Amino acid sequence: MPDGEDLDCSGSHEEDPLSTSATAFDALEQRLSMLNRQAVAHSDQTLALQACEEALEAARMGNYGVGAVLIDPKGRVIERGRNRAFYPRFRSDLHAEMDVMNTFEDRSPRMGEMRGYTLITSLEPCPMCLARLLISGVETIKFVAYDELGGMVKQMDHLPQAWQKLRERQSFELADVSEDMRSLATDLFLLNLDSLRVQLWSR
Ligand SMILES: [Zn+2]
Repeated sequence: MPDGEDLDCSGSHEEDPLSTSATAFDALEQRLSMLNRQAVAHSDQTLALQACEEALEAARMGNYGVGAVLIDPKGRVIERGRNRAFYPRFRSDLHAEMDVMNTFEDRSPRMGEMRGYTLITSLEPCPMCLARLLISGVETIKFVAYDELGGMVKQMDHLPQAWQKLRERQSFELADVSEDMRSLATDLFLLNLDSLRVQLWSR
């Protein structure tokens, strides 16, 4: 399910997520830095890179490796956020998209125009985040990699009627990035996935 976050039944071995080897993080960081140096023609590559930087930081902290950025109508990155569901303490709602929108809405309490805003997340939104993004009014949501088991975008036709109505003014789409970037976003998410799922299931 969410950012793969809750259901599904893969993964079985128990381990402390923080024990994931430093080598694994270093290898991902190296791939990130190589992507940073590559000139590519994909329109979302630079913003996706920022989302993946946040994802790496989330994974380093022992959370799901998912990050997101919010862009205003002038193309400026105005918020960056990451998954904080497990560390520093358990918060079941703090997926990357929620983290970004919480900060943004706390900072701009007036319910303003959201046309022209774009959120880029490193992973396809889960059901919780997709519902939040629908209510948030952000016009365009792009995700770098599919979450085959937990993503909700593929299931949007099953939303209740009122939620379908919200969806009419928004678009959810796959980001335009290189295949290397897409594969990095997936690997960042997979890094702590199994061990964190074991923690959820054992409660
Ligand atoms: Zn989510």
